[in-house]
Amino acid sequence: MRKKIVAGNWKMNKTLADGIELAKTVNRQVEENSVIVVLCTPFIHLSEVNKVITKDSLFLGAQNCSSEASGAFTGEVSAQMIRSTGADYVIIGHSERRSYYHEVDSLLNKKVKLALENDLIPIFCCGEILKERQAGNHIQVVKTQIKNGLFDLPVEDFIKVVIAYEPVWAIGTGVNATAEQAQEMHKIIRDLIADRYGNQIADNTSILYGGSCKPSNAKELFTNPDVDGGLIGGASLTSSDFMGIVNAFTEI
Ligand code: PEP
Repeated sequence: MRKKIVAGNWKMNKTLADGIELAKTVNRQVEENSVIVVLCTPFIHLSEVNKVITKDSLFLGAQNCSSEASGAFTGEVSAQMIRSTGADYVIIGHSERRSYYHEVDSLLNKKVKLALENDLIPIFCCGEILKERQAGNHIQVVKTQIKNGLFDLPVEDFIKVVIAYEPVWAIGTGVNATAEQAQEMHKIIRDLIADRYGNQIADNTSILYGGSCKPSNAKELFTNPDVDGGLIGGASLTSSDFMGIVNAFTEI
């Protein structure tokens, strides 16, 4: 069954104390229903935030992992180390990693495999920059990112992956993709998965939307048949905004 997921990406925000406070509030307010809620915290918060999670529908995630398994890679954090904190998810290929840290598809493919080997669910991000959309290349760009990042996975691994479509021009800009733009790309992604892995697998893959999602537009975005939730940046930093987005599902 395709899961509904709302994942918060705190990025490089929150002191440890502030992060624990936010996680406690979210944990208190999350209802045990069919929506999976994930808090993707900075590495240093992971094990402490894990201690405050008591709800079955609330999960912990990291925002990145190393492309290497272990060893002399100063400053890196491995998938195995992330898993050992109690995390279940890891964001891979966020556009900020792709652009600021030059993470290319082949590297992201290694990260996805290490995440899966260590029982972490990858939230694999894809999305075009504004220039690519304006040039009409957005569909090809997203398809290429997904093919290169994921499509050499055997089916038993692919079924564990969550995909997040995040048009880069919508991230942190206040300008979200319209419901039609999101649905169009999500359907294209699902059809691409169907071509590679078959209809049933495509149908069961959760595809999240990310990019200036907020309580006021979440319902409109999540109502679309191929939008299975959201990856939330700015609005995940306050419990009221984040829970407003999570609760948008209950109105659908
Ligand atoms: C993100 O960074 O994944 C994101 C969606 O950010 P924002 O919600 O702030 O646009």
